[in-house]
Amino acid sequence: MDNVEKDLRERLAKVGRLVWDQKLTHGSSGNISARIPGTNKCIIKPSGYSFGDLEPHHFIVVDIETRKVLEGKEKPSIETPFHTRLYKQWPEAGGVVHVHPQYCTILSILEQEIIPMGIEIFEAPALARGIPVSKFAPPGTDELADNLVETMKDHIACLMPHHGLTTIGKTIEEAAANAKMAEFLAKLHYEVMLVGEPRPLREDVKKTLIERAKQKGLLI
Ligand SMILES: [Zn+2]
Repeated sequence: MDNVEKDLRERLAKVGRLVWDQKLTHGSSGNISARIPGTNKCIIKPSGYSFGDLEPHHFIVVDIETRKVLEGKEKPSIETPFHTRLYKQWPEAGGVVHVHPQYCTILSILEQEIIPMGIEIFEAPALARGIPVSKFAPPGTDELADNLVETMKDHIACLMPHHGLTTIGKTIEEAAANAKMAEFLAKLHYEVMLVGEPRPLREDVKKTLIERAKQKGLLI
């Protein structure tokens, strides 16, 4: 194992604990991965582990083209198909986060896309395009991967009906920051729906946010 892989495993374990502490997932649900830069490989969470318990050596190295396990004794995450497909679709993506946060899951059941409304989105401006909802498919299936990848053609975050949220970023840390902001926006959207009609940010503000995301070098 070279230093690049060693460093990436440590970062993944750290992000896993952060996402766990932020209560974006529970039990052994959810999965994270990172692309090994300059290769056709990614490092992904093993099946059955809680985010809070992940250690660097637990992660599995998988070939992005063939999904074959290249390193590791554990079974790779059940959702490996969509992680590898997203890396193929987004050559600049370096990390994928998939979690089941409470408010994103509620809106996913309603098949309600998340509309950017609060100015907190300035912290994750790449989400200014909104967070759409993919078509339903059972977890771990190629059908789910097909539906998700189709919806994420031009979005860096997506709700999956009756299930949860997936985000990508240039790095695993960026993908995790997008997931945290997506759950904040989902909670805000939910609360607005309790008292009235959601009203999106003005178009020119959204355009400014998208420009800001590009200037910051974020995945968009
Ligand atoms: Zn899931």
